[in-house]
This record gives sequence, structure tokens and C-alpha cells, in this order.
Amino acid sequence: MTEFLASHQHVLWFASNVLRACLLLAVVTVVFAPLEHMFAVRPGGLFERGWSVNLGWYFFNGLFTTLLLTPPALLIAWLIHSTLPGAVTGMAAGLPLWARMVAAMVVGEIGFYWGHRWSHELPLLWRFHAVHHSAEHVNFLVNTRGHPIDLVFTRLCGLTLLYATGLASPVGPNPSLVPMLVLFIGSLWSFFIHANVRWRLGPFEEIIASPAFHHWHHTLEDHKDHNYSSMLPFIDRLFGTFYLPRTWPKDYGTSTPVPETLIGQLLEPLAPAALGRPTAPVGRSNQA
Ligand SMILES: [Zn+2]
Ligand SMILES: [Zn+2]
Repeated sequence: MTEFLASHQHVLWFASNVLRACLLLAVVTVVFAPLEHMFAVRPGGLFERGWSVNLGWYFFNGLFTTLLLTPPALLIAWLIHSTLPGAVTGMAAGLPLWARMVAAMVVGEIGFYWGHRWSHELPLLWRFHAVHHSAEHVNFLVNTRGHPIDLVFTRLCGLTLLYATGLASPVGPNPSLVPMLVLFIGSLWSFFIHANVRWRLGPFEEIIASPAFHHWHHTLEDHKDHNYSSMLPFIDRLFGTFYLPRTWPKDYGTSTPVPETLIGQLLEPLAPAALGRPTAPVGRSNQA
């Protein structure tokens, strides 16, 4: 039995990850599907156009993208610890866990903000990030719709600042607790800000991201260069990209042509000239 388990370890590891992804999907569906039904910004259901691609990305990124993140994260951590003085990388070591968590959320969000903003401003990065913005209907499952290179890049930007400030380290005691917790809380909140739920958070929308805050980031054209933060909108206020009227966007999507299939979205950003881009713009109107 022991030999059987040892020889099939990778299969068991993969099966346990599939099971974990299915459980998380069941939890977020049980939470958000009824909320989207009762408090929808616009009519629609779970099976709006693009739902199967969203589901495919959910499993693809859940099972494989985390593996892609680990090697460059370790390399960056090693480079930082090799070049920065120990007084800098160790400055947060004495803080209690709660203070490190709060500081890590703010510092990690600043890194994520700039990674996300560069993904819009630099054509090479936008090629990958356009996959996330190609969703014509924004709902909770759009959260995990994204090219692995896009997701890895923005997360590395957050992790780089966390490693540089000593708020997280992949080595030493409890090496990955803080970044794991920050990433976990952030990824759960990301389901909420994508949800097709018309809740507004009043004055708290300046402090914590709401669905409206992020839906404006998915608008077809006018304000997609705003609201780059994933959890803390005051970071956008700080850098001049905050936009949050009382209304909701009329259109979602992007005018950048993006293939409709998952395999097309995975491969086309890697070799757009070789694979050819479709010519029709992608987008929909809430009023349609
Ligand atoms: Zn974006
Ligand atoms: Zn989004």
C-alpha cells in the first residue's frame, strides 16, 4: 500500500488539488449565485455568454498557475536578499502578526496596483491582460478568467514589495504564512468585486473595494484606466486613478480583439502574428 501511494504521489497530489478547486467552486457558487439572482446589477444568470470559458480558466489557473508563480517568486526573493541590506529586509521581523498582515495588505496592494496599471499601459503586458477584460458579462466567475502570465506578473509585483520590505519571506520560520494569507484574502474578495451584485458600501467604498468600484474597471472604454486596486481603493485615490460615480457602467468588455475559446486565449497572446487576431471587437451593452 505504501509503495502504491509513493508511486502515485503526483496523481494523488493532482487529485487533491482538483478536489480542493471543486470545493472552493461549490462554496463561491453557493454564496454568490443566490446573491446575483436576488441583487443583480442587470438581468442574467450563471450561464451568460462566456461562462464555459470562465469555468475553464477557473480550473486551469487554480491547478497550474500557482505552480508557475513559485519559481520566479523564489528567484526574486533570493535576488532581494542578496542585494538589499539585512536591516531593510528584516525591519518587519519584530512586528506582531496582525501588524504585519495590515502592512502586508497595503504594501502588497501598492505592488499589485502598479503591476495592474502597467498591464494596461504597456502593450506587451496588455496583450495578456486583455483576456481578463474580454468578458462581456461581469460576474463572480470572471475573477479567475485571466492569462497565467498576466496573473503571475501582477502577483509578482505585489510579492516583490513584500519581500523587499521584509513583510514576507519564502525562507525562515513560517516562511509563507503572510503572503499566503494576503493572497487568500485578496482572492476571496476578488470574487465579490466581480459579482453581478448591486450592493454599494457607502462611505466605505473609499476604503474597501466594492463590485461597483471594479465593474467600472471593466467598462468597455471610458474608464478602464481607473480603479486598478483589488481591495484598497484609496491606493487609486493616492495615484489619481479613482473613479466611482453612483451609476453603473453601460458596457463591459474590450475593443481589443480576443479569441473566444480558452485555448485561443492561452496561445494567441504568446504569438499573435502567427495565430492571427480576429477582427471583431468584443463588448456588450447593459441596455441591450
Ligand atoms: Zn485591468
Ligand atoms: Zn476584473
